Amino acid sequence: MKKTLCCILCVIFICIGLTSCKQNIYPLSSTQLMMDTVISIKLFDGDSDALDGAVSLCKRYDMLFSKTVATSDVYKLNHAGGQPVTVEDDTAYLLEIAVDISEKSNGAFDPTVLPLVSLWDVTNSEAPPKDSHITAALKSVDYKNIIIDGNTVTLLNGATVDLGGIAKGFIADKVKEYLKAKGVESAIINLGGNIMLIGNKDGEDFSVGIQKPFGKENELSATACLTDKTAVTSGIYQRYFEANGKIYHHIINPESGYPTDNGIAAVTVIAESSAIADGLSTACLNLGATESAALLKQYGAEAIFITTDGELILTDGLTQSIDKGDITVSLKQ
Ligand code: AMP
Ligand code: MG
Repeated sequence: MKKTLCCILCVIFICIGLTSCKQNIYPLSSTQLMMDTVISIKLFDGDSDALDGAVSLCKRYDMLFSKTVATSDVYKLNHAGGQPVTVEDDTAYLLEIAVDISEKSNGAFDPTVLPLVSLWDVTNSEAPPKDSHITAALKSVDYKNIIIDGNTVTLLNGATVDLGGIAKGFIADKVKEYLKAKGVESAIINLGGNIMLIGNKDGEDFSVGIQKPFGKENELSATACLTDKTAVTSGIYQRYFEANGKIYHHIINPESGYPTDNGIAAVTVIAESSAIADGLSTACLNLGATESAALLKQYGAEAIFITTDGELILTDGLTQSIDKGDITVSLKQ
């Protein structure tokens, strides 16, 4: 009898122990190296299953859109020698968004820019490539070579695709959709600086820091106060090498074949959809503030441009306030 009571008590204590272990301490967060960058997901409600599921989703999409993994849709497309390839629904849809932004930006965003990205290889290079090589690479750069027919995609005229300018945004949208379906109402999804917000924090906007181009770590040009939106930054300071006193960065002007050099150091696009904001941030960095205005309007997006002189240029739907030199940007009501 004594033995039985002892066993029951043990089971009760173990159960209490397990229950208290399961209690969530917020934020629940996970930081991982993925997509060639650091990703972090922070939940202010929900549970660890939702967090684990979100991380798994990122891994799955990373494998689908990778340029180097032989089983990825992007790899299959780039190695099909111009033959039609059956891709997953998500890949076909992402390519459709990419082509739409390419069309509306007149090719300032162009996912067929891969030969130039590979030629410049800014993370490993020490000198610019030869002009003749740039001219040769430019020949297969044209988004019109992407033919999408349902799930069948064909790349014409030797074109190859690089979804690096838009994939993180798409994945952020998918992670948000997933977490919301799991009941999460407050979270920050940060895919290498590509920020997607779910709701806000205890009724207050989230603060999104906008990094100062070429500044010290954590040095900000501004802070954006946002609820349930995405903020995606493209910047010439993110990946680059220096040669002959010049910066050669990772965002290529598909017309010239050279890294963009137009006096814009960074663009942060604020929108509902992160895929759209990601594609637009790359396009707008190429276009500059004036030319971007109409494009941003077509997608109902706003943007903060930072010039190489450190000046901030805001689109019409944004407002800024300055307190002791700190700039806070918010959406106009
Ligand atoms: P982001 O940081 O979103 O602006 O994306 C930059 C990445 O997109 C680069 O590392 C390239 O892989 C790719 N890329 C570079 N230039 C372009 C361009 N003009 N259009 C589309 N993708 C680009
Ligand atoms: Mg982008």
